[in-house]
Amino acid sequence: ARAQIGVTGLAVMGRNLARNFARNGFVVAVHNRSVGRMRSLVAEHGGEGEFVGAESMADFVAALERPRKVVVMVKAGAATDAVIDELVPLLEPGDIVIDAGNAHFPDTVRREAALAGRGLHFVGCGVSGGEEGALLGPSIMPGGSRESYEVLGPILEKVAATVDGVPCCTYVGPQGAGHFVKMVHNGIEYADMQLIAEAYDLLRQGLGMSAAEIGEVFAQWNTGDLESFLIEITADVLAHTDPLTGGAFVDVVADRAEQKGTGRWTVQNALDLGVPITGIAEATFARALSGSVPQRAAAVGVLAADTVALQVDDRDAFVEDVRRALYASKVVAYSQGFDQIAAASAQYGWGIDRGAMARIWRGGCIIRARFLDRITQAYEREADLPLLLADPYFADAVAQGVGAWRRVVSAATLAGIPTPAFSSSLAYYDGVRAERLPANLIQAQRDFFGAHTYARTDRPGTFHTDWSGDRTETEA
Ligand code: NDP
Repeated sequence: ARAQIGVTGLAVMGRNLARNFARNGFVVAVHNRSVGRMRSLVAEHGGEGEFVGAESMADFVAALERPRKVVVMVKAGAATDAVIDELVPLLEPGDIVIDAGNAHFPDTVRREAALAGRGLHFVGCGVSGGEEGALLGPSIMPGGSRESYEVLGPILEKVAATVDGVPCCTYVGPQGAGHFVKMVHNGIEYADMQLIAEAYDLLRQGLGMSAAEIGEVFAQWNTGDLESFLIEITADVLAHTDPLTGGAFVDVVADRAEQKGTGRWTVQNALDLGVPITGIAEATFARALSGSVPQRAAAVGVLAADTVALQVDDRDAFVEDVRRALYASKVVAYSQGFDQIAAASAQYGWGIDRGAMARIWRGGCIIRARFLDRITQAYEREADLPLLLADPYFADAVAQGVGAWRRVVSAATLAGIPTPAFSSSLAYYDGVRAERLPANLIQAQRDFFGAHTYARTDRPGTFHTDWSGDRTETEA
């Protein structure tokens, strides 16, 4: 046994992660259900480092130094359970199984408990960055026991992306914390992408700019506060010409967004925890709306528009307004995502350090961005910050853009350009900063029809009014 780490599941992600370990000097045992993938990996990339190819799970396990460290990188769901069932009888106490696939965190909680009962460590590990990240350095979010991180951390930190010499990998928290944080990362990614798409649509439909011109705007935005991987690739995509038609590539792509489920899981969990992640939810629903083919077909040309065309005297000023609205909405989406992490951490007892999460998202992953540094700094100033949006830096940054944000949302509404994420983020902003919300009326209604009681603004206690009788108030 001489391999320091093993990878089973050698499709795009596992293959590249195994190569990443090998290129960083680790001896890697590699295994795949169908042997062909293992053989082609060793044949094509064997020269990049030391691989130990295993044709069976037993040979794979036998090739590993103890405590064994086995990365499982298979299709999330039933395949993960199948691999674990095959693996576990071959392992010994103290060995570590790392699920690096996109598991749903409750599955991770279940698997971790089952393996802990057998003396094994199970690490649900979020990995972001797609296939390129897996090869060149992803952002890595490992959960499970702290003890397992002592052994695993140094290896993972070596293959992770680095920013300013700091690895984009840290211990997240016990049980399913790693996969939970990866899930919220993906939810934020949905919001980020939707906001970018709305900004594009405003310039396209609102100003009539071409895709290439908008690409130049995004390239320009990428030199400031918005600098990020997603803005960068947006500029690149918008500049791309379709070889078949010679026109803008985006113009020939069908407008139906698909999803694999992490956005939906994020929203479902937010509903369970009661956290208003409106930006992520709107982004998830916007994808669903785009894919609602029969409903869209029934509505096009049938539903009245009654719009007021965008009146823009100064195009540059409008573009700048859109940039500011995008930045403010993005801050809201991140603030909401970090709220969800805080709520889950408290609910499940995970002790997640939010500043550290922003730090490990600065590189390697899809939402890597300049402004994540600012988030880390905000949590360094105040670890228990109740609202990221209210941190002095972000409150000030948004204050500078709030006028622009209102102008853009108003103009979009009048022009009939749908901006669900821009609009709902602004509504959240106005809601969370309101001294008084109309929830007073809702509580009164609830008491009226269901005797659900209410609190008063002027004295402590819980009250009920006898609505169907003489309307006297009693303290419940
Ligand atoms: P896939 O999700 O396409 O999964 C294919 C791999 O799973 C193959 O190695 C396949 O083996 C194996 N597999 C499927 N069913 C079984 C089973 N019943 N028993 C054993 N092995 C099985 O591969 P990806 O590389 O795209 O993704 C791997 C994981 O990484 C997934 O969980 C994915 O969600 C996650 N991920 C993917 C990202 C991406 O950009 N693609 C980004 C981040 C995470 P065989 O060759 O024998 O069919």
